[in-house]
Amino acid sequence: MPTSSTSTAEITTARCVELASVFHDPLLEEPLPASAPGAVRRRQMGLMSAAQTACRACPLIVDCLYRAVVEYDVAGYVAGTTPSQRAQIRHRLDVTVAPENFDTVAGISGRHHQVDHSEVVRLRNANPDESLEMLAQRLGCSLSTVKRHLRRERREPSVGMVTPTYPTVNEVLTVAAAVVGTPSAPSCSQAA
Ligand code: SF4
Repeated sequence: MPTSSTSTAEITTARCVELASVFHDPLLEEPLPASAPGAVRRRQMGLMSAAQTACRACPLIVDCLYRAVVEYDVAGYVAGTTPSQRAQIRHRLDVTVAPENFDTVAGISGRHHQVDHSEVVRLRNANPDESLEMLAQRLGCSLSTVKRHLRRERREPSVGMVTPTYPTVNEVLTVAAAVVGTPSAPSCSQAA
């Protein structure tokens, strides 16, 4: 997971942005039918290989994988995993998430939208060791907005808000390694 020293410049260097034509290719969206011709299968394998290489070299892979497993159900190839592999990881971790937009999870868009108070509190509880700067980046808002919501929560704790428990980053990485198999999954050392 990116640390508090992760810069905005690094955030914008997600390899999938540079390789949008690969990551957005429809062949990476869905499994091929059994009747798919060999040429199509070879093309899909080529795309998958290019995406896998890009994700392995991406500075955001640990955070990206965690979010794609725990926070968003995105389509396509993300963080070295296919949708089916992420579904298996969630199943093993007993995690349920709603469908989302790929660009948002990759940190490309979704900036400066209105921030929901409960979402700030939920993300803070889910990532207690994360810097407030990183939380603001996740939410696409300013640091002062995050601080304002957390001050409000300390002043007036949310009543009746059920805070679900989330797997840790290392739990996600361990299960991902088991599902995807090494070396496709990111190493746990990247979570430090
Ligand atoms: S790890 Fe995530 S952000 Fe990085 S290239 Fe892969 S899909 Fe994009």
